[in-house]
Amino acid sequence: MYTFNYHRPDSLASAKALHGDAEDALYLAGRHTLLPSMKQRLRQPSDVIDLSGIAELRAITVDKQAVTIGALATHDEVARNAQIRGAISALTVLAGGIGDAQVRNRGTIGGSLANNDPAADYPAAVLGLGATILTDEREIAADDFFTGMFETDLGDNELIKAVRFPIPQAAAYVKFPNPASRYATVGVMIARTASGTRVGITGAAPCAFRAREMESALDGNFAPSSLDGISLDPDDMNADLHASAEYRAHLCVVMAKRAVSQIA
Ligand SMILES: Cc1cc2nc3c(=O)[nH]c(=O)nc-3n(C[C@H](O)[C@H](O)[C@H](O)COP(=O)(O)OP(=O)(O)OC[C@H]3O[C@@H](n4cnc5c(N)ncnc54)[C@H](O)[C@@H]3O)c2cc1C
Repeated sequence: MYTFNYHRPDSLASAKALHGDAEDALYLAGRHTLLPSMKQRLRQPSDVIDLSGIAELRAITVDKQAVTIGALATHDEVARNAQIRGAISALTVLAGGIGDAQVRNRGTIGGSLANNDPAADYPAAVLGLGATILTDEREIAADDFFTGMFETDLGDNELIKAVRFPIPQAAAYVKFPNPASRYATVGVMIARTASGTRVGITGAAPCAFRAREMESALDGNFAPSSLDGISLDPDDMNADLHASAEYRAHLCVVMAKRAVSQIA
């Protein structure tokens, strides 16, 4: 570690003001990514602005149209929330499968999305369910939010306040977890909505993406067999010691079929 200024504001306005005044500030949420990155000196902010004192960022609301989850809601709070389970059970399944109990107790949805790790689970949900990211400045559609590996459309000091998930007709999330970290080797969220099927895939490629060919096939006939002829290009996939690009491309179809089976 090295020296930095630590702040714990109790309002959005003061968090923004502190960020604006600092030379090179970063927000801090669940700490599960930022602190290890700082220890390894991959990140060296002049100021760390801890969001944990801002109560409004924790709110979770469920109405007939949508589930809205505050940026500071932990994975465990989402996994255990009965209202969310009643509206979009795939979201509670996803949150309950993140990491282990320690990670779920601290990691937050806002931190996960801002970080945009290529193997994180929530990006598949945001894309698959057609969510909207609510920031202190604007609303960002899921399809515009993820711009590359560890990159998003967020501005320098823009802050995620919440994420709004429209309630689908049905949805399922299936992942092939890394056996050590539980990060997604491949994770697939499929949702049936009034405007058609959405398929969000994480873990497979440098950035989460929508599988449009699968969406069209499933709109024609919502059955696992509709995905039989589909193969994703390994050139677009990640490869590491856990899984080759070819294996990840294969897993995308297998996980998608399992998600369709769950819904059907
Ligand atoms: C051992 C281990 C296993 C894990 N397994 C999984 C897994 O299986 N699946 C999975 O999806 N994730 C996994 N994670 C990641 C974890 O769940 C957290 O989601 C992730 O670390 C980031 O969230 P955080 O709240 O800890 O953010 P932090 O580490 O506090 O912050 C991360 C980044 O987001 C920024 N940020 C935070 N909040 C906001 C905000 N509201 N607005 C704007 N920017 C913000 C910070 O400035 C920082 O750049 C794992 C982590 C660990 C350590």
